[in-house]
Amino acid sequence: MTTTCKTTSPLHRKSKLAKSLERDVLGIALEIGRRVGTEGHGIVEEFLEDRLEEIGCEPYTTSSFCLPYVQNGESFTNIVGVIPGRDRSKKPLLIGAHYDSVIDAPCADDNAAAVAIALAVAELVAANANLERDLVVAIFDAEEPPYYQTHSMGSNRFYEDQMKPEGVHAALIMDLVGHDICFPGEFLGAVPGIGSMLGKIPGLSKKVINVPFLSDLLFVTGTESNQGLVDIVGEHHSPKDLKVLPTLNRYVGDMSDHGIFRKNGVPYLFLSCGRWQHYHMPTDTPDRLNYKKMAAITYYVCELMAGMDAQEMDRTDTEQFSETLELEASQLKKILGPAHNMVLKRMGLTSISTRDDMTRFARSLLETGL
Ligand SMILES: [Zn+2]
Repeated sequence: MTTTCKTTSPLHRKSKLAKSLERDVLGIALEIGRRVGTEGHGIVEEFLEDRLEEIGCEPYTTSSFCLPYVQNGESFTNIVGVIPGRDRSKKPLLIGAHYDSVIDAPCADDNAAAVAIALAVAELVAANANLERDLVVAIFDAEEPPYYQTHSMGSNRFYEDQMKPEGVHAALIMDLVGHDICFPGEFLGAVPGIGSMLGKIPGLSKKVINVPFLSDLLFVTGTESNQGLVDIVGEHHSPKDLKVLPTLNRYVGDMSDHGIFRKNGVPYLFLSCGRWQHYHMPTDTPDRLNYKKMAAITYYVCELMAGMDAQEMDRTDTEQFSETLELEASQLKKILGPAHNMVLKRMGLTSISTRDDMTRFARSLLETGL
């Protein structure tokens, strides 16, 4: 007989989730890495198949979760499962992240963390059975160089060759979602209070500094791909323990597997904490991740999924663009709080009231190396 604990507090649930995220990261972020064609890649493939099975996924098309493909004589494998929804006639949602690594090292933030979150979201969706639509859990191969943005890239092959003709209703892709956001010292010099304090640190401009009130930032691009997403991201603007900053995908380009969905006019969201000092380095290790932040992202993604499930989202042509300036500007103001006006001033702006203002702000921020 099994008993369920009905008195679990939200805090307890969250730390339990953080622990299970860490377990999955440790199962993926092997020291030997998981570059395409290596032993580690094969081990992780099996680990992910087992996890999809445990979670209660069905295979997407064939009898296996593994969807192999060959490109230029090289063998690859996407790993794809489905959590059945209540109305299987509706177009499915997709959550996706790549599992290959760029070097023979753990690459925990890139991208074991995102895969772990995708698995956790699938697990919660299966347990709550709260979605009308099927949820396709797509763990893509070959996102990293030398395959990045080529025909070998797993998400490209999935979209063009492996996806069912019904397509997907909307896609949510994650990359680099396991770390605290740190700021270059140079940028922080502009923030009142902090700037004067840090001014005394030698070599400040070369240092990377963790600012507690900004470490829980999460960037979201793609809101602009559909009006329905503007409504959903706007509605869930203050998730617990996270600061969400929507920004335009074109400011940073197609950094990950969402590119193929964007190009084909599929409503999509891309979640990322951006690059950090351990990006593509052997130092991107599981002990450097923030599992509590990852738990907060997991719950946030569940909220977004429920929103996308219920929202009608007409396919747009790829040129169509939903204006998100108001949402971007109000979130920025909320996140920067009392420092908002000073940061703007430092960037030569008095307010953000036009798209040009926002573009200028985004460029200045990107120049700092974020
Ligand atoms: Zn990468």
